[in-house]
Amino acid sequence: MGKKHTGSSGDDASVAGANGSRDLGADRSIPRRDFLQGALIAAAGVATELPLASLAASPLEILGAQDRAGYYPPALTGMRGSHPGSFENAHAVRDGHVTTDAIDTQQSYDLVIVGGGISGLAAAHFYRDRASRSSRILILDNHDDFGGHAKRNEFMLNGRLNLLNGGTLSIESPRPYSPVAAQVLVDCGIDVDRLSKIENHRFYGSLGLHGAVFLDRETFGTEHLMVGWKSSPVAHALAKSGLPEQVQRDIERVEEGNIDYMPGMSSAQKKLRLSSISYRDYLRDLVKVQPLTLAFYQTHTHGLWGAGIDAVSALDCWGSDMPGFSGLKLEPGSIPRMGYTPAGFADTGGSKTLHFPDGNATVARSLLRNLLPGALPGKTVEDLVTTRVKYEELDSPRGPIRVRLNSTVVKVAQKGNAVDVTYIRDGKAYVAHGAKCILACYNMMIPYLCPELPERQKQALHSLVKTPLVYTSVALRNWQAFAKLGVSGVQAPSGYHTDFRLNPKVDIGQYRSPTSPSEPILLHMTRTPCKPGLTEDEQHKVGRAELLNTPFSTFEHNIREQLARVMGPGGFDPARDIEAITVNRWPHGYAPEYNPLFDRELPEAEQPHVIGRAKFGRIAIANSDAARAAYTDAAIDQASRAVNEIIRD
Ligand SMILES: Cc1cc2nc3c(=O)[nH]c(=O)nc-3n(C[C@H](O)[C@H](O)[C@H](O)COP(=O)(O)OP(=O)(O)OC[C@H]3O[C@@H](n4cnc5c(N)ncnc54)[C@H](O)[C@@H]3O)c2cc1C
Repeated sequence: MGKKHTGSSGDDASVAGANGSRDLGADRSIPRRDFLQGALIAAAGVATELPLASLAASPLEILGAQDRAGYYPPALTGMRGSHPGSFENAHAVRDGHVTTDAIDTQQSYDLVIVGGGISGLAAAHFYRDRASRSSRILILDNHDDFGGHAKRNEFMLNGRLNLLNGGTLSIESPRPYSPVAAQVLVDCGIDVDRLSKIENHRFYGSLGLHGAVFLDRETFGTEHLMVGWKSSPVAHALAKSGLPEQVQRDIERVEEGNIDYMPGMSSAQKKLRLSSISYRDYLRDLVKVQPLTLAFYQTHTHGLWGAGIDAVSALDCWGSDMPGFSGLKLEPGSIPRMGYTPAGFADTGGSKTLHFPDGNATVARSLLRNLLPGALPGKTVEDLVTTRVKYEELDSPRGPIRVRLNSTVVKVAQKGNAVDVTYIRDGKAYVAHGAKCILACYNMMIPYLCPELPERQKQALHSLVKTPLVYTSVALRNWQAFAKLGVSGVQAPSGYHTDFRLNPKVDIGQYRSPTSPSEPILLHMTRTPCKPGLTEDEQHKVGRAELLNTPFSTFEHNIREQLARVMGPGGFDPARDIEAITVNRWPHGYAPEYNPLFDRELPEAEQPHVIGRAKFGRIAIANSDAARAAYTDAAIDQASRAVNEIIRD
């Protein structure tokens, strides 16, 4: 509902009341949240006083929070994702505050990897396979948990484990996984065909619950929840919406019409034109819809691109199955563009898809299990979903592979036959040594870590602007209000969160999703901070600044207010029904992709991501950023390339 809606107004006055936040329940202690926020502070705090006995024997082993019994970040609530304590040191380096004095860990590895996301974990997997099974590898990550964007949110509700993805949602890509990336899934025991049955896509529909669209009075002049959106002809839902007649006809035409708005042009000519205009321009100038219809579609592109329809090409929208193009009769296949083709889904049909209860955290956890079996005991992906990570095993000196958390790398320098990697943990700087190094971290940070890189490469890396996003997990006592309204998910085109939906029904191994509306459940909410009217990169920069300046209390207030307003008519009471909130904040979310509206067409060798990922001596560069593609297959493919580059030396 945007900032303009944060005060109580109209119908929601009865819920928000004169005291606003208090009646929404923000003052009510959420025992879980209060307890776990405390744990979060401890987890990010100074080195623990409870060493494992074996570690204490070595004077050079510096213990961290992860080595302490009880350390368990997936269950933390409050502000997660880029959580407090994870990014401040990186920003200090960006701002020129370089640490020079570092304690020498006197630890030497065959390979040091910066970044413990899927790309970093996959790099360790490839290096061990291709160099030596006994390779000594250190993975450093600034977060208190591994997985990068592929994070897991865990809640125990009424004694039952409930899971949601804190970031990376599904195995899904605009193109089939490469043989290398597909083999990694096989190596991890993930059989996508067999496991695709774990999600019951028909579950909520079988209970009579469907998607809905919430129209707010401030934007649309009518306050209405259009239930059953697209589960029957849209005219049914629109008829009761209170939207002006002409806007209803526009939306019907966009959704179900079959008109050719570009007559006389070939399919190729149409696609070329669509690649040079935004979806907004297409709807306004060719489909000729009303301004209010544009408002209805403005945030349709938020989920995939992190920006509104003004900053996304119409061709991309066609390629991703957005409405309004069926009458153009475009032939399958995209037009070639920089890097990955923008309309990849239309080109290839996309990859196989699979959603685990914790999203692609299961991919990260599978990779970790392969690298460190002692940290995640068990054998199958089914048992993996409910297995707790033994965090104290991640950085054990006993094994050749170590994952060190809460460690922000601030400097990577080649010295003779080694690479010195300086990192800050618990306020102190340390240096570890690698014969080789792979930077699987956010690529735009690399020039700050390696200032000696060639100027052209640094410029290319600096040009990369990642997409900010927020995935919030809200634990609800029950979902009776959803059942009463017949709603499983809501799109709110002008809402603070533009989308929220009940956790998908996924059953795997011992893990069972809730089946009755009287049971607790998790709600997934999405917010995309951006600013319409600017270029895509500028929109992301404004959104990121907003995100880093938004405290948890503001999120909490807006979550409570939005749910009260939309679901209140079904009996939802945020003060009573919300058990816990985890805000997964990703100021540096999706890897950027080239945008035909704003990026110049360049030969491959001159594309910034190709220049930016060049090997530099003993240092190679991975991460999905290095492909300019925000997908797990890209993260794995780039790890494979980086490993090949440094093994060749
Ligand atoms: C909200 C969200 C949803 C997504 N959904 C999907 C999806 O459904 N399917 C899909 O395929 N992809 C999805 N993605 C894209 C996702 O980014 C990739 O799939 C993949 O997880 C990226 O892995 P990575 O290792 O390349 O990067 P990351 O996951 O970003 O990992 C890099 C790690 O390096 C760390 N790091 C950065 N700088 C430093 C430093 N100086 N020192 C130490 N560590 C550092 C980072 O903090 C991070 O932990 C999503 C992304 C987001 C943000």
